[in-house]
Amino acid sequence: MRPWIHIIGGGLSGLSLAESLSKYPKFPGPVVISEPKITNLNERTFSFWFTKPEESFLRPQHVSDRWSISGDGFQVKHRGQRFSYGTIMGKTVLSAALKAVEAHPQITIREERVSSMPDADHVFDCRPQGPDTFSLIQSFAGTEIVFHLPHGVESVGLMRSLEATSTGIRFLYLLPLSQRRLLIEHTEFTSVPADLDKLSEMNQVFIEQEFPLGAYEVTRVEAAHIPMGFKKRESAFGIPLGSRAGMARNATGYGYRTIRYTTHRMAQELIEKNEITPYRSPRLVSWADNLFIELIKNRPEAMPAVLAQLARNMGPDNFAAFMTSYSLTDILRVLWTAPMKPFALALFGLYRWI
Ligand SMILES: Cc1cc2nc3c(=O)[nH]c(=O)nc-3n(C[C@H](O)[C@H](O)[C@H](O)COP(=O)(O)OP(=O)(O)OC[C@H]3O[C@@H](n4cnc5c(N)ncnc54)[C@H](O)[C@@H]3O)c2cc1C
Repeated sequence: MRPWIHIIGGGLSGLSLAESLSKYPKFPGPVVISEPKITNLNERTFSFWFTKPEESFLRPQHVSDRWSISGDGFQVKHRGQRFSYGTIMGKTVLSAALKAVEAHPQITIREERVSSMPDADHVFDCRPQGPDTFSLIQSFAGTEIVFHLPHGVESVGLMRSLEATSTGIRFLYLLPLSQRRLLIEHTEFTSVPADLDKLSEMNQVFIEQEFPLGAYEVTRVEAAHIPMGFKKRESAFGIPLGSRAGMARNATGYGYRTIRYTTHRMAQELIEKNEITPYRSPRLVSWADNLFIELIKNRPEAMPAVLAQLARNMGPDNFAAFMTSYSLTDILRVLWTAPMKPFALALFGLYRWI
């Protein structure tokens, strides 16, 4: 029977759409997911900001209301009131989605790679684009370690040791996943893909400097280049979904929250109206993100000071809202509190005056 929906890619967006659809008992026809390696999500952790009413939908497993940004000569510490920072393991997302999908008689997962347009009423394309199409690249390598005793790290180190490089900025991201587990990630926002092995070695050096040998074990590694905006859109088979559709925030690379909410909305629309409104990121958000990306590309050496000033001026909740693109009002507030000179000059392309 001809599929009603064909989803190309069973990663975060494809499985989120399928999981949301599975809440409805009957579809007009079969739903097919094509995915060559269903275990991909096991290698990831997803972090995001959320407010209390969103908790049950976004399902964070570890939550912190404290985060910090630091670099040469500055440290900004935040404690969120409205927003908290949550993390869910990819393997939790995967097992919940598989349980829901496998229980639905009309959904099938096929272990296959799609290379041409499938025949279905609605086709969703979740294949990630390549780094050569990204406006700016977020390159990172993460090392997860487990300690024999509690590590005592309470606050999320969002950007530690923030510094400029010749192609962008680099920082250390330090994320407590539980009392005994830590994720250490060296990250670059860069115009050319960073060397992931080198970033991984930096994790190793940091771990050996900070923690006594024998106190921990390395349990998992993850590394990737993720898009911060696209300079070129590849043609899609059907409707683009996930990071290919711009659901990962250009200025930050965060995508979990938008992907979960957007696919939920799409599932409802498909069931109720059998049609779909493709995702479009709000224009003001795209415009502000583009300004930010151009600043990083053109004046990397100015960025540690710009980011320090942004974090200081905005305060915890406005900063979290900026990272999440929570609402247009939040974005306007960010523009209002952003350091005037660099942003105003970037607006007119006058990077050499910054
Ligand atoms: C390592 C990593 C960590 C991240 N961490 C965070 C985070 O902490 N917070 C956050 O908000 N965002 C994070 N992101 C960004 C974003 O949320 C993720 O990239 C998210 O997985 C995007 O979902 P997606 O469905 O677009 O892509 P994916 O989840 O990558 O899924 C795409 C799927 O398509 C499949 N595929 C590819 N080609 C084909 C083909 N020809 N046929 C069929 N299937 C195909 C792939 O195998 C893959 O499983 C992270 C991204 C990465 C890579």
